[in-house]
Amino acid sequence: MPILIAVLVMLVLGFVLGFIIALVSTKFHVEEDTRLTTIASLLPGANCGACGNPGCQAYAQKIFDKESDGNDCTVIKGEAKEKLLEYIKENIN
Ligand code: SF4
Repeated sequence: MPILIAVLVMLVLGFVLGFIIALVSTKFHVEEDTRLTTIASLLPGANCGACGNPGCQAYAQKIFDKESDGNDCTVIKGEAKEKLLEYIKENIN
């Protein structure tokens, strides 16, 4: 009988704590700005540092902060570069 009470207590505790976690995560949900992630995904990902930044993510942050127009990357070329510049033009300004 004591083991049954222990199992019931743990079940109730699990449901109550799960409900509290769900409630808190809903209340404190933060909308993420996906533009930074998209810019980073449009960069080559070589992390070579030729643009003067420690890597592509840092350069994406610079573009996002409007400190660069997207032309500093020496690796990206052709259609990929056009796609990046078009995205920047349409979404960052
Ligand atoms: S030059 Fe281009 S590929 Fe190299 S780190 Fe900068 S953004 Fe990344």
